Amino acid sequence: MYIQVALPVPLPRLFSYRPIEGQPLPQPGTRVRVPFGTQSQVGIVVSHGPEPDLDPKKIKPIQTILDEHSLFSATEWKLGQTASRYYFTPLGLVLPQMIPVKLRKGEPADPAPVTRWQLTDAGREVALDTLKRAPQQQRVIAYLQADKTLEEGQISELEFSRPALKALLEKGLLETVTEQPEPPTPWDPDWTGGETPPVLNAEQAVAVSAINQHEGFGCFLLDGVTGSGKTEVYLSVMEQVLRQGKSVLVLVPEIGLTPQTIARFRRRFPLPMEVLHSAVNDSERLASWQRARAGGAAIVLGTRSALFTPLPNLGLIVIDEEHDASFKQQEGFRYHGRDLAVMRAQLENVPIVLGSATPALETLNNVQQGRYRHLTLTRRAGAGQPVRQILQDIRHLPLDAGLSPPLIQRIRHHLDEGNQVMLFLNRRGFAPALLCHECGHLHECSRCDAFYTVHQASNMVQCHHCGSQKRLPRQCPECGSTQLFTRGVGTEQLEQALARLFPDAPAVRIDRDSTSRKGSLESMLERIRRGEVKILVGTQMLAKGHHFPDVTLVGLLDVDSALFSADFRASERLAQLYTQVAGRSGRASKKGEVVLQTHQPEHPLLHQLLGAGYAVFAKDALTERQHAQLPPFWQLAVIRAEANQAHLAQGFLQQAKSLLPAGQVQMIGPMAAPLEKKAGKFRFQALLLAPDRRALQQTLEPWLAELPNLESAKRCRWHIERDPQDLL
Ligand code: ADP
Ligand code: ZN
Ligand code: ZN
Repeated sequence: MYIQVALPVPLPRLFSYRPIEGQPLPQPGTRVRVPFGTQSQVGIVVSHGPEPDLDPKKIKPIQTILDEHSLFSATEWKLGQTASRYYFTPLGLVLPQMIPVKLRKGEPADPAPVTRWQLTDAGREVALDTLKRAPQQQRVIAYLQADKTLEEGQISELEFSRPALKALLEKGLLETVTEQPEPPTPWDPDWTGGETPPVLNAEQAVAVSAINQHEGFGCFLLDGVTGSGKTEVYLSVMEQVLRQGKSVLVLVPEIGLTPQTIARFRRRFPLPMEVLHSAVNDSERLASWQRARAGGAAIVLGTRSALFTPLPNLGLIVIDEEHDASFKQQEGFRYHGRDLAVMRAQLENVPIVLGSATPALETLNNVQQGRYRHLTLTRRAGAGQPVRQILQDIRHLPLDAGLSPPLIQRIRHHLDEGNQVMLFLNRRGFAPALLCHECGHLHECSRCDAFYTVHQASNMVQCHHCGSQKRLPRQCPECGSTQLFTRGVGTEQLEQALARLFPDAPAVRIDRDSTSRKGSLESMLERIRRGEVKILVGTQMLAKGHHFPDVTLVGLLDVDSALFSADFRASERLAQLYTQVAGRSGRASKKGEVVLQTHQPEHPLLHQLLGAGYAVFAKDALTERQHAQLPPFWQLAVIRAEANQAHLAQGFLQQAKSLLPAGQVQMIGPMAAPLEKKAGKFRFQALLLAPDRRALQQTLEPWLAELPNLESAKRCRWHIERDPQDLL
């Protein structure tokens, strides 16, 4: 009998090991440390069985058994298996993604004993003055004398010095105690306190009772514009579930998980809540996982990967902004958080609520097919007036950093009224290209098919595809001319132009560059809320879920590229962006305006969006997708290959194509990826389309199993992605 182990290596199979002599067989779902190549790896046991293919003498024994019991509940285990099959991704890549990083590295799954530093009697009485020659020691004693607790894990965060702690220990002023942490106490479903909710309006009440009356698995789309009271509906539905002693999993896009959101949940529910987002460190994540697994979490509020949090008594899943692209993981295990959450809800047999102002076409199709129930909120809660929409033809108009004179006038008008203005430009940096005026040379990244973006503030040019950067050149590398001009406009340039045009209106820029420091986005949002900032400039980061009641004018400077994109999802994304951004203006009692600048004022998509709105757009777009045999009607996967030479990547895909059995799956390609060269690699791809899931699954499974044996597969890197969101 051998043990099959899933290892985090990019080979689509399990690996067999011998049990350790004299020890019980490790159970499926437990971790083991095993030899792999010249190193050792932490793997997860999947099954026990004979190993027919290998010479038994070559099979090595397991080194260590790390867990006594499985880390996965039965449904979580099933979720991992289902996801692995659905996404054509080996268990070795799937299972580790479902557990915290520290567990992937082999740390103990049970809470480790905690060491606490505390004052001795002498330490409590010592006068701080006597330590004034040892300021580090003084700081520690001052901290502890102020009745604070100091755990081992806090030392570096508080910047206490280890030698100082050691010295205090030797002086007998400090002592350490090590204890096993208490298991979390179960929370009380009969809790009292918590903020009193508003009286629900009729539409909210209908939505709440539809969900509450439902038993078992069911999927609900809560479709309502921003500010229509979706969150109130979530809170209300959650309350009923929590009162039954069951816990709730809430997933939100990364950018939506603001302190305001967290505070709103905490005010409403004075219950233990685990918050999981990118700023939470690995130790905190592990601790959250441990508490949730022990039944100590009433609510888990987190981003994509929080969906795997173990919750022994799950009663409901909520996904806010379900259309958001950040739910898709773009590397390794390429899953969609929303779709896996629906799978989890089904396995756990609990309801799931998907909320959005601009539901994904996939979701709307599920509604049309009768699989999901559609609940709508048509009115903004509280006051709210319809937004005035303006399509600004900018052909022939002089542009100043992308701003047309009519838009500049409107900005002035709204600022004069004391309101805030939000300008949206989906291109960060100062300018997207650097041009030589004498010879026409455009500065290109040597590793990608892409121009360098000029970043003036840092005096650099940067490639936005591979991240390489260098000092802003003064001379053309081709002809030596110093006449270098920037072409096009990015957010950095727009911000500068606004400072010149509106010197009295402070502006803030929100994009990946300006918010890279931890906490900087939050402090910017706070300045906006306090009204210190009058103009907000940003990329699509700005388009998401923030409530700015004083913004009355929203301008979209340049969205034309989406009208001509080769990606079939581009129009859906533009429609979502426009609708979300437009929803940001005129929230309170003030009337809002949205200006969309374009060189294509006749484009039917723009007219449809401004005239009929998102719902009508979505209906037409779905019909188009059906005729074009695209998702969500057809099942789509993409196979991608990259190599140092183009023919290697292309050759592999060509060979793969020749192995694909004739039948229901069509392979389109291979073709060069839209960005053919990236970070020095040549990239090719092919689309795989099938009329239904079964056809895709049954054709691709045996096919994918053969591909690693191809000689050409060894000379490139390749992967397959199911339901790709980006075909770049
Ligand atoms: P969404 O999640 O759709 O953006 P919210 O639930 O955040 O909407 O509601 C927007 C605002 O309206 C919030 O300030 C909320 O407190 C308020 N609100 C929601 N529902 C009601 C209601 N029934 N009565 C009064 N105020 C409400
Ligand atoms: Zn030149
Ligand atoms: Zn590059």
